[in-house]
Amino acid sequence: MVTDDDLLSRTRAAVWHPCTQMKQLEANPPLAIARGEGPWLIDPDGRRYLDAISSWWVNLFGHCNPRINAAITDQLGRIEHVMLAGATHAPVVDLSERLAQLTGLGHAFYGSDGSSATEIALKMSAHYWRNAGQAEKNEFISLKNGYHGETVGALSVTDIPLFKRTYEPLLRHSVQVPTPDARLAEPGESAEAFALRCAAMLEAHLAEHAARTAAFIIEPLVQGAAGMAMYHPVYLSRARELCDQYGVHLIADEIAVGFGRTGTMFACEQAPPLSLAGAGIKTVKPDFICLSKGITGGYLPLSAVLTTDAVYAAFYGDATAQGFLHSHSYTGNPLACRAALAVLDIFESDGIIAANREKAAQFTRLLDEVSAHPRVRHFRQCGMIWAFDVADVQPDFAAHFHRVALAHGVFIRPIGSTVYVMPPYVTSADEVRGLAQTLLVCLDHPDV
Ligand SMILES: *Cc1c(COP(=O)(O)O)cnc(C)c1O
Repeated sequence: MVTDDDLLSRTRAAVWHPCTQMKQLEANPPLAIARGEGPWLIDPDGRRYLDAISSWWVNLFGHCNPRINAAITDQLGRIEHVMLAGATHAPVVDLSERLAQLTGLGHAFYGSDGSSATEIALKMSAHYWRNAGQAEKNEFISLKNGYHGETVGALSVTDIPLFKRTYEPLLRHSVQVPTPDARLAEPGESAEAFALRCAAMLEAHLAEHAARTAAFIIEPLVQGAAGMAMYHPVYLSRARELCDQYGVHLIADEIAVGFGRTGTMFACEQAPPLSLAGAGIKTVKPDFICLSKGITGGYLPLSAVLTTDAVYAAFYGDATAQGFLHSHSYTGNPLACRAALAVLDIFESDGIIAANREKAAQFTRLLDEVSAHPRVRHFRQCGMIWAFDVADVQPDFAAHFHRVALAHGVFIRPIGSTVYVMPPYVTSADEVRGLAQTLLVCLDHPDV
């Protein structure tokens, strides 16, 4: 029989774990997982852990969801994969049509992960300007503390020093404009007023540098890796207006916030247009949207970038090099597309967006005691994301918090001194009640 210890020593010897100083694995061994069921992770001995962060924000409808399992199994009996250059298949066409309908953008281009989606959007934007005779527009701006992935191009627009600093010599220069993160507002200043003040600083940058700027890439409403920093949607409204005014693309990185996480299918839907109000356009529309993570319900790696007809048209012509000659081996993988189609079916047939609105309000009430805890600062919520900062933390707070929570059957990984909860949508009120109790135990624990 394979024991836990076997697996842990073998994983240390054979696997290089992500986002991990491997030496620390000895003190903080990874959790061995044998099975999953709904929001629960189950270890080889049958111990259960609530997946309170949806396995790095990807899971929506639980582990081993029967409907997603069935869709993938059905596809397995047809074809597992065929290259998408020179071939096509129903799952990728169906998914592209449905994503177009949902986003109001079109011509879905597929990658295998979020970082690839960022790379695709950045390349498409710069290539668009080149095709439009403005090749000098090839620089990018992003928000302070933003995160868009860690491949070399994506890392260039990411602003998390721990991930970025070491690789600085490899990266292309990009500019970060002030984040509208509501925690940074002056005392007495509303989140909205602060967002508008930050937008004015965006404008100042664009006024000077638009001629060389291809795109502004942004995580709409919530900066995930920054520690679930939330901001007022007016920033997006204003950013759209300014990007239009200065001729700069707006890239919405909805990799983490898409697929219902913030309470609407896509976070951009919460930002009303400022200048076109009344013209029948109800929400801000980016020039590019990047999707991944929840797209397959956490089943298979898949990402997509959709864009406007105007961008698409600039690539369409007789010259091969005018086209977008980017590719990944697994572009449009049929199994992943079927998982994504099953996810969209669940959203539709179960009225998930409306149901989550009730759930989110209920879960927020269940977390009342947590938000009132004397160590908790900036308790915040957006859709199915909750976060708070913890005061007076011990060294290694995140690791200690993680370990204490694990001992109580909750899998959670704070970012610095920020604790966030981002459960699968199938999590029940009882499960959140248990989670709230565990969070309180952690907050009162002497090691934390
Ligand atoms: C996770 C994430 C990415 C990168 O996705 P990967 O699949 O991890 O490469 C990019 N942008 C945002 C906002 C993310 O949360």
